[in-house]
Amino acid sequence: MTELAYLADLPSAYVRDFRGRIAALPPGAIVLDRTYFYPTGGGQPADRGTLRLPGGEDLSVVDVTKSGPSVVHRIHGSPSAIRSLAVGLELEGTIDWERRHRHMRLHTAQHLLSARLFTRYRVRTRRAELSGLTATLDLEGAISAEELAPLADDLREAGTLPRPVRVRFVPRAEWDRNPNSERSGLVPLPRQVDPVRVVEIEATDACPCGGTHVRSTGEIGAVTLAPPVPNAGGASRVVFTIEPVGPPIPPA
Ligand SMILES: [Zn+2]
Repeated sequence: MTELAYLADLPSAYVRDFRGRIAALPPGAIVLDRTYFYPTGGGQPADRGTLRLPGGEDLSVVDVTKSGPSVVHRIHGSPSAIRSLAVGLELEGTIDWERRHRHMRLHTAQHLLSARLFTRYRVRTRRAELSGLTATLDLEGAISAEELAPLADDLREAGTLPRPVRVRFVPRAEWDRNPNSERSGLVPLPRQVDPVRVVEIEATDACPCGGTHVRSTGEIGAVTLAPPVPNAGGASRVVFTIEPVGPPIPPA
């Protein structure tokens, strides 16, 4: 079982270096007792980075997945480094920060856009997929290019008037009573999720999510919206991109 340390609060998404002990050694991979590596899930790709052995040799983390309660770090390394691995050994993890921070910016921009699509047009986001500098949102309803245009202004405003982003854990019953639980515009959560990890963008959005996000909308940078594309069943797909490098990260 792996403690998902990146979930604890919003600042945990900014942890780049950490220590964890080997809990299991499936073929070609390492399960740690705790990790800050994000495993593929919820439309957000897995982190990359390194796991350093006590002797100083690095193993490359080439993929990270969830397997039941465990996080599996798929690794590449020299045969001698692989042979020296043992359950209980402490490793030093380092996250590929450029990749991670791009996902954090992209993911927070997706929350903003999904929230605006819902508050303006009552159109929910059925699925969101992040990749590189691009987010793809599959909506439950149709949206036209004219309707999408003002949302670009909303996204720009979130950059010029930055809003703080927070994480809190809310008992399920309380979340279901919360009128803001609708506002995220995502499809409803499975019943068994309790407590709910809620990612809030101040005065804008409250959204159940297990991903990693920036602490202020001012960190996202410019967002470019492509014209919507018709999807099956009268729905729409919306794609946007962010700049390779965002604004400087303000101090915590
Ligand atoms: Zn999220």
